Amino acid sequence: SAKQSGRGRTVVRDHSTGVDIGYARQLGHDLARAVLNDEFTVYYQPIVDTLSHRTVAVEALVRWNHPRDGLLPAAAFIDIAVRTGVVNTVGRWVIDEVCKTMRTWMDEFGDTGPTTAYINLSARELLDPTLGYALGRSLAAHRIDAAHIGIEIVEDDLSDPIQIARLLELHDLGHPLSIDDFGTGYSSLSRLLEFPAVLAKIDRSFITGLPNKRNARVVEAIMAMAKALDIQVIAEGIETDEQARVIEASGCQMMQGYFFGVPQSSHELEETWRYGSSAVIG
Ligand code: C2E
Ligand code: MG
Ligand code: MG
Ligand code: MG
Repeated sequence: SAKQSGRGRTVVRDHSTGVDIGYARQLGHDLARAVLNDEFTVYYQPIVDTLSHRTVAVEALVRWNHPRDGLLPAAAFIDIAVRTGVVNTVGRWVIDEVCKTMRTWMDEFGDTGPTTAYINLSARELLDPTLGYALGRSLAAHRIDAAHIGIEIVEDDLSDPIQIARLLELHDLGHPLSIDDFGTGYSSLSRLLEFPAVLAKIDRSFITGLPNKRNARVVEAIMAMAKALDIQVIAEGIETDEQARVIEASGCQMMQGYFFGVPQSSHELEETWRYGSSAVIG
């Protein structure tokens, strides 16, 4: 289906995804150059403990400082990066950047800073046999223990036994594994038996509808299952006080969303922590 865009360009959209194919192709070209030009940056979103509201972890989310289109969220380009394979290079850079940042945070904030940074890995990155080596090299370079770098994986992406094997390796190396967008996959329950996740993130689509009764019951059901399996739960995409209160009552251990903090640069986060700790002391 083609139609004229505002700029007089013919827009051709992919039938299944609605993505503007011409723009996607352009971004694909730009991505190859972006890696060489160092145009990526990592934003960090706070993950707070439900009881104390203290930031106990962060999620690392890649951003692209596009020279023409400005700062692009991962949602705007990560699928293209996966399709073109650039995601492997970007992912390596993200891993090293996150380890570097964790080192500076641990040096400045110690136990009062976040203890875990979660990175997102696509299924494609899990297929790369040198992933474990790259992770190990960055951990060593910045003197970070694997326990401090968690790995989020969207279970619906996993189709190959090699990917499961790689997750088991990462788990054995000491990385906490987390199932992202939990509940949206077609095989959530069987996946739980295939790899040793210690954490599941309730997808935002379940949180958005809260405090609606039916949504609240789905959250309760996920919590009951997680408890039976000894898995901790993060609720993601919390945007309102009302949603936070339902989650607090559910027994969910951690919370994440715009209500608690948007993804931001490491420097911005450091400022809030410095301000926060001095406010407590002074
Ligand atoms: P995700 O891991 O499920 O990350 C959550 C997404 O929701 C992020 O979008 C985040 O900015 C956004 N978000 C967080 N809180 C809220 C909220 O309260 N309300 C709303 N409406 N949105 C919220 P982002 O950064 O565009 O990332 C999109 C996806 O791209 C991520 O989904 C993740 O699957 C992937 N991704 C991000 N960074 C990386 C990376 O470094 N490597 C790989 N392979 N994938 C990445
Ligand atoms: Mg994630
Ligand atoms: Mg998610
Ligand atoms: Mg997602």
